[in-house]
Amino acid sequence: MTARPAPRVGLVSLGCPKALVDSERIVTHLRAEGYELSKTYQGADVVIVNTCGFLDSAKAESLSAIGEALSANGKVVVTGCMGADPGIIHETYPDVLAVTGPQQYEAVVDAIHKAVPPVHDPYFDLVPPQGLRLTPRHYAYLKISEGCNNRCSFCIIPQLRGDLVSRPAADVLREAERLVKAGVKELLVISQDTSAYGIDLKYAASRWKDRDVRAKFLDLSRELGELGAWVRMHYVYPYPHVDDVIPLMAEGKILPYLDIPLQHASPNVLKAMRRPAHQEKTLDRIRRWREICPDITLRSTFIVGFPGETEEDMDILIDWLEAAELDRVGCFQYEPVQNAPANDIAPPVPEEVKAARQRRFMEAQARISARKLRRKVGRHMPVLIDSVDGGIIRGRTKGDAPEIDGTVHVTARRPLRVGDIVSVKIERADEHDLYGRSA
Ligand code: SF4
Repeated sequence: MTARPAPRVGLVSLGCPKALVDSERIVTHLRAEGYELSKTYQGADVVIVNTCGFLDSAKAESLSAIGEALSANGKVVVTGCMGADPGIIHETYPDVLAVTGPQQYEAVVDAIHKAVPPVHDPYFDLVPPQGLRLTPRHYAYLKISEGCNNRCSFCIIPQLRGDLVSRPAADVLREAERLVKAGVKELLVISQDTSAYGIDLKYAASRWKDRDVRAKFLDLSRELGELGAWVRMHYVYPYPHVDDVIPLMAEGKILPYLDIPLQHASPNVLKAMRRPAHQEKTLDRIRRWREICPDITLRSTFIVGFPGETEEDMDILIDWLEAAELDRVGCFQYEPVQNAPANDIAPPVPEEVKAARQRRFMEAQARISARKLRRKVGRHMPVLIDSVDGGIIRGRTKGDAPEIDGTVHVTARRPLRVGDIVSVKIERADEHDLYGRSA
C-alpha cells in the first residue's frame, strides 16, 4: 500500500508581529498533525490568509491577498483581524471556504481539516519541541498577552481582539526557555500594551522552576533576563512602574531598548486620542531613564493629521521631538478606521496638510537621528548578525529591533554566521544605518 502524500498548506501572513505569532501557532498545530507547508499557491492543497484589519489600507491589502490566493489556488481559509467582520469578506469573495477571527486557532484548524483532511502517521514527531517559527531562527517574537483594556479613539483593536488576557508568567517563561534552547538569540516581547501585563490576572504568581513568579512586567522582565538571550521590549506605555525596569537595562539583564508608541505630544491631541498614560511628564520620565541607563535606545511612533490637529499642535510636537531626542521614530498620517470614534471628533485634516506635516516631522527626526547615530562612531558595539550574503554582512546593535530599526553593515576578516554576536567598531553613520568592522 502506498502512503497518501502529506497534505500541503500555503500561508500568507499579513499585519503586525502579533498576527505573525498567531500564524506561527496555527502552523505549529498543523505540522503536528502531519501537514506540510507549501511556499507556492500551486503546490498547496489549501491556503490560509491571515489578514490585518487595522487600517483601511491594510484591509484593502488583505482583500487583494485573498483574491490572489483564490485565483491562484481556489481553496482559501481566511483568519486574523479582518475575520472579526466576516460580512465584507463573504460579500467580496463568496467562494472562501471559511472566515475566522483573530486567535481562533481551533476554528482555522477545523476549516483546514474539512478542506483537506489530515493524514495520520503515528511514527512521525513532526514538530520540534519549541514549535515552528516563521521568523528567522535567531530571533523570535514572544507574545505575553492578547487584547487591550484601553480605548484609544482611533483604534478598533479592542473591538477586534477583546480586553486584555495575559498569559501566566510560567507559561511565557517556558516558551521563552524552549526558544533559547533551540538557538534563539533574541526574544522580542510583544502584546498590545506590554506594561499592562498581568492586570487581568491581578498579577497572580505561577510556579517557574523553584520559585513563584508574579504576572508583572518587572518580575517577568527580570526572569526573562536570566535566560541568556537578548530581550527586547515592544509596545510599552510609560506608566510609572516602567521606571522600575530601567535598572535591569542598566545592569545588562534585558536590552536597553524601549518601544513606546507615544503617537503625539500635544496634550489636546493626546486627550482626543484617549491615549493611556498620557501626561505632560513624559519628557521628565525620559530624562530620568537616561540618567539611570545612559545607553537606552528609545523608539516611538507618531500620528500626524489626527482630526482637529492644528498647526499649534504640530509646533508642540516638533518642539517635543527636539527636546526628547528619541533614537528611532516612525510617523504615520492619520487614516480613518471604520467604526473608530476618532472619525467623529472633528472634521478631517486635508490630505495635503497631512502630507506636509509628515514631511516636516520626518525632516526634523532625520536630523536628530543622524546626530544620535554619529555619536556612536568610534565605539565598539556588540552586533547580532542577521544575514550573510556573499561578502555582504548585516546585523543589528542592541538599539535596533529587526524589521523596523536600522542596520549595521559589517566588514569582517573571518567568516561570520547568522546568529553570531560579534564586537564591531563603528566607523561611519548615516541617517539610519551604521557601518563598521568586526575584529
Ligand atoms: S493601546 Fe490603544 S492603540 Fe493600542 S491596542 Fe489598545 S486601544 Fe489600540
